Amino acid sequence: MSEATKRKAKKLVEIGGVIKIDEDLYQIKSSSDPEKSYFVTSDSCECPGFKNFYKFHHGKGLKANCSHLEAIRIFKDS
Ligand SMILES: [Zn+2]
Repeated sequence: MSEATKRKAKKLVEIGGVIKIDEDLYQIKSSSDPEKSYFVTSDSCECPGFKNFYKFHHGKGLKANCSHLEAIRIFKDS
């Protein structure tokens, strides 16, 4: 994962952009559009970056990642 993604994720947690809704369900603000937010679980996200990852890397056995999934990880550790 890129440093930029990690930085974005950290920022999202710092500004309170991560809200826990249920045991494995979070609502996370979009970093590009504050009006927007995504529902995220520990291994899936609604954002275009996450969806595109599987479109471009389909069948390679890779796991998608995005700043929102990373934000949950930071959120849980903090
Ligand atoms: Zn995402």
